[in-house]
Amino acid sequence: MIYADNAATTRMSRTAMDAMLPCMREVWGNPSSLYGFGQKAAEALEEAREKIAACLGASTPKEIYFTSGGSEADNQAILSAAENGAKQGKKHIISTAFEHHAVLHTLKKLEQEGFEIELLDVHADGMISPDQVDRAIRDDTALVTTMYANNEIGSILPIAAIGAVCREHRVTFHTDAVQAAGHLPIDVQKENIDLLSLSGHKFHGPKGVGVLYVRKGVSLRNLIEGGAQERGKRAGTENVPAIVGMAAALSEACSRMAEDTNKVVAMRQRLMDGLAKIPHSILNGDPEKRLPGNVSFCFEGIEGESLLLLLDDRGICASSGSACTSGSLDPSHVLLSIGRPHEIAHGSLRLSLCADNTEEDVDKILQAVPEVVAYLRSISPLWMDKMSGKRPFILS
Ligand SMILES: *Cc1c(COP(=O)(O)O)cnc(C)c1O
Repeated sequence: MIYADNAATTRMSRTAMDAMLPCMREVWGNPSSLYGFGQKAAEALEEAREKIAACLGASTPKEIYFTSGGSEADNQAILSAAENGAKQGKKHIISTAFEHHAVLHTLKKLEQEGFEIELLDVHADGMISPDQVDRAIRDDTALVTTMYANNEIGSILPIAAIGAVCREHRVTFHTDAVQAAGHLPIDVQKENIDLLSLSGHKFHGPKGVGVLYVRKGVSLRNLIEGGAQERGKRAGTENVPAIVGMAAALSEACSRMAEDTNKVVAMRQRLMDGLAKIPHSILNGDPEKRLPGNVSFCFEGIEGESLLLLLDDRGICASSGSACTSGSLDPSHVLLSIGRPHEIAHGSLRLSLCADNTEEDVDKILQAVPEVVAYLRSISPLWMDKMSGKRPFILS
């Protein structure tokens, strides 16, 4: 099997598993218990907090809060900033049209509660400029939330510059860094980030665990009532093995980042260059300012779902932007946000590589995708119409 869907989830690393096992076999006490056995678990937890704080450049481990994943961290960050803003009569929130649903759906909820949500238009190359943020900020802006890197088209936003704009206007800045953490260097202080979300399973850690970084001085609202874990901001007995595994995975990813990036970018480049040769295709996102492992294309005249199923038959795990998971036929909001017409957005393919992939994987993908695209076109009545000139081509 060739796994090329690392933006959906990653295989857990050996390092993460090795760090987790002792937390299940030996150090399985409750970190809130006062006896030494429980305190051993509490120590493991604090060690994990320190490691993660160091990877993000946080000023103290106290700024790290553990959550059940990226979605919860996004929810908590946005709802907290909204509540803080509302207390001062600020109910305007700025975000972008291509955020993850964990962000967009939380904003939708706030809109129903009377907040004004302004989604910035994404430029055709998949970018948001600091200028757009600057122009959108008002006296009653409670929060700016823009993702660090997009999960579908891979674009990396100018986070440090957006952070600087927010700091200048004293507006709280949150970034969903789920795709970036462990893949791009992050420094929350240098980049003026107030709130940041990440998720363990996107960098070879376990699923169901994540982090919300909260700059000292930004007040946090708890979403789950109960015990006093996470300094009263997130009740529930901590998932110590997962937290320890996540910290080990992030530390490893950060220490190997330079070499992994070189390897992955070389494979991505070859994949991008090869797939660009398919006629009537288009690359999604910026050719350079993109996540190391992300390749995203639209192919005219095919359905992304059919492409995925045929690639699966050939042992290749990939993804499409279409929202097939929701059972709807709506194309991806991300592809629509960069101006792809519906018909084109339906024919999308996302391949996301990691350092475990090989050049041989790339060879096989480069063999399979053009063949499958050609086959699907050959059986498409729509494609026949385009070939005979009855309908125009959209992509050159
Ligand atoms: C995966 C992902 C999430 C959700 O994280 P979970 O840990 O799966 O809840 C949020 N935002 C982005 C950009 C993601 O890629």
